[in-house]
Amino acid sequence: MDTQNISPPGVEIASDPQLIWEECLSRIRNDVSTLSFKTWFQPIMPVRVSGPELTVEVPSQFFYDWVEEHYNSLMKKTITAVLGDEGKLYYSIARDERLHSAITQPAVTELPSSAPRVTRAPFSPHVPFRADNLPILQSNLNPRYTFDNFIKGDSNQLARAAAMAVANNPGGTSFNPLVIYGGTGLGKTHLMHALGNYALLTGKARRAVYVSSEKFTVDFVEAIQADKVNEFSLYYRSMDLLIVDDIQFFTGKEKTQDNFFHTFNALYQLGKQIVLSSDVPPKELKGLDERLISRFQCGLTADIQAPDLETRIAILRKKSEENSLDLPQDVIEFIAANVTSNIRELEGCLISLLARASLESREIGVDLAKDVLRVVVNEVRSPVTIEQIQKVVCDYFDIPQDLLRAKTRKQEVVTARQVAMYLAKELTNSSLKTIGLHFGGRDHSTVIHAYQAVEDQMKTNTLYKQNIENLRRRIDLNC
Ligand code: ADP
Ligand code: MG
Repeated sequence: MDTQNISPPGVEIASDPQLIWEECLSRIRNDVSTLSFKTWFQPIMPVRVSGPELTVEVPSQFFYDWVEEHYNSLMKKTITAVLGDEGKLYYSIARDERLHSAITQPAVTELPSSAPRVTRAPFSPHVPFRADNLPILQSNLNPRYTFDNFIKGDSNQLARAAAMAVANNPGGTSFNPLVIYGGTGLGKTHLMHALGNYALLTGKARRAVYVSSEKFTVDFVEAIQADKVNEFSLYYRSMDLLIVDDIQFFTGKEKTQDNFFHTFNALYQLGKQIVLSSDVPPKELKGLDERLISRFQCGLTADIQAPDLETRIAILRKKSEENSLDLPQDVIEFIAANVTSNIRELEGCLISLLARASLESREIGVDLAKDVLRVVVNEVRSPVTIEQIQKVVCDYFDIPQDLLRAKTRKQEVVTARQVAMYLAKELTNSSLKTIGLHFGGRDHSTVIHAYQAVEDQMKTNTLYKQNIENLRRRIDLNC
């Protein structure tokens, strides 16, 4: 043990977590860049010390994963130096205000890097996770996913509201089953965990389980092999709330589907809640038994769309807050403007940005964000121009482009012109005056009027709104 800088064990420092951690920090500071130090070590809070064991709190699961992956040996070295060969470091993840469920992680110092990651072990939101206190029922719910940290946006409004209604009254609404569908990385899994966590925490459901359709399938096959199909079925049929993720993987697996069909019916008849997710609407699930599809359709099917710019900005802000990071607004906006289709990718960019900033000792700014995006999404889009918008809109409405600039007041031209003006205002930084000039020298008040007219229509006409969103996507693809 290196005793140069600290008093021998037994003297005050050995019982004061704050002092011990400060001693660790003073050593770590010499081994990492200032940015890494600020990003990954300063936010760590000492919690308690018990003999040679120090427990610290990290702000989030992501933070823990990062530290474990990148600074495992540094932590190990430091803890041994400060607390001696017996020294151990335990992490706990900061409690979510709502979910009082700190999860004690085994020390990095104990885990060889190839050891199974206990952080990946099933989470149980209602009992602290401890090896000697495993709950009989493993809900598999991850307490990291809550309604509080699920950002609300137009793209997920219905799914989120339905999930909250179900969480408040599982089995008691007409949303049974609740089917959430949407593309990958848009928040389906997050929402389902949030629902389950909330229902368990508030006691609205006593027994809840989250399972992916793949795991359900594997477990079912194992149950057949072990001659335990009865136990398997009884287990799932004993739930108040059954959450099955990614049901598209049931396709083609007839026996599993058959078992699931009976489980579904049994739960449904008992008034228990079923929540499912899929990457396409249930009726488009090919290779799935018709009986199942029609069951899935008897509750509520809610979709999650790709998030709009405001939602993407809000998500990035939230994720950086969760990780105690203060990202400059221009960086947030830059990433949000360029990563449009998938929230997982958005998070990936944030992580890469932090990684590169800390590994290359670079300042977090738009320049670095550009470099990161080049690698992550392969390209940085050039800004959309008014001409590009006009082209896409005219193709869509099937009218010649010069009519947008002409005096004609034919209804379809007026509509296309208004839509193009609206999108020009939304998607470019051009002033109202510049936009007017691109439309045959029209006045800025005409642009305002067009913008307002489109916004009003979108509020009252869902189909119209969808068309505008389609157009936005086309413009995105074309630029
Ligand atoms: P899916 O299951 O649809 O593929 P996930 O639920 O796994 O997507 O979401 C991918 C990542 O994006 C997760 O880390 C999740 O927390 C995050 N995410 C998705 N939607 C939101 C949202 N509305 N607010 C905050 N984070 C979100
Ligand atoms: Mg998912």
